Amino acid sequence: MTACRVCGSHIAKASYEASAPALTSMMAFIDIPTLAYVCDDCGHAQGADLPDLETFYDTTYRISLESDDHDQIFAMAADGTPIYRTDHQAAIGLRLLDLPQGASILDYGAGKATTLRKMCTARPDLHPHVFDVSRDYMPAWDGWVTGEDQATYTVPEAWAGRFDAIISHFVIEHVVDPVSFLKTLRALLTPGGRALLSMPDVAANPGDMTVADHLNHFSRASLKRAFQLSGFALETIDGDAFPGAFFAIAIRSEEPVAIDRNGQEISVAAAKAKEICTFWKQATKRLDGAAKQFSGKRAAVYGSGFYGSWICSRIEADVDFRVFLDQNPKLQGSTHLNRPVLAPANLDDNVDVVFVGLNPLKARTAIAGQAVLNRPGLDLVWIDG
Ligand SMILES: [Zn+2]
Repeated sequence: MTACRVCGSHIAKASYEASAPALTSMMAFIDIPTLAYVCDDCGHAQGADLPDLETFYDTTYRISLESDDHDQIFAMAADGTPIYRTDHQAAIGLRLLDLPQGASILDYGAGKATTLRKMCTARPDLHPHVFDVSRDYMPAWDGWVTGEDQATYTVPEAWAGRFDAIISHFVIEHVVDPVSFLKTLRALLTPGGRALLSMPDVAANPGDMTVADHLNHFSRASLKRAFQLSGFALETIDGDAFPGAFFAIAIRSEEPVAIDRNGQEISVAAAKAKEICTFWKQATKRLDGAAKQFSGKRAAVYGSGFYGSWICSRIEADVDFRVFLDQNPKLQGSTHLNRPVLAPANLDDNVDVVFVGLNPLKARTAIAGQAVLNRPGLDLVWIDG
């Protein structure tokens, strides 16, 4: 039994459970089981607490600290040039927030704060501030955020009520208590100030359900509830601007915010989350079966992201797994989980089977156009059957 991280209701049992190790968003394995719970009262889905969370984010979790663009490509433009996540986030932020001249803006859980930096390049009138629970990112802030506008570990009391806007990209999915997190943001805003948050949309990318350090898997219904419980008036939830993610804008409300209990929306959200849990149960069974079926065969895994890493953990004891294939040019030539990452076109003729480690909602389209993967005699294993 556990308590819902959003509404506090009791959740009797997990909808998905897998034995250790669990896989993190940084593609590291940790020695805990994977659990997913679904709340019928608000439509939220959630994982179990991580051991020693503070140390994890302080010293282990280093998103893109080593390189400026490692794995940060989120899409390819029509002309084949990569689109970087932070460019896209900056553009969405400027469009959705519609900031007044000279606005004071805080990046909360900033990491290197590349998104805020790009917003300030486009809008030099903005007054940037940054906060994170690690000092590792400070060198990336120096030179464009003044020392007094940087904070680590705790937010200065003087920052209460200061900001016209707060951005917080892909942070809230990591926090133990999202409602108190949002209350903290609310207290930092001026009355009428706006928060822009982004987070994974598990319904659009089901892999998110099993990411060990994503303690929250929001639905529109549970995100609405979280904002209402923390004194925000929700302005918009945009599920289209960024594939696989929600971008939400909410305004600090001075009036009590009514809790809207849309039973239909909540039950649809809870049913969807349970369906994803069932998908993972079946996928685990399917992969374990395929690992036995192709025991000793030469194999490659297509995709060196979350799905591919998860497949690796399920098959490496049985199959002769040699390489990852990945379309991301920044990853080609690197190694991942002790295997080289190659461009798909460089797949060896002697490989017997390719395990497809992509978002199952997009995998078939991605593979269909590639001759090398559709050659006779090559077996393909899909995680969705
Ligand atoms: Zn709930």
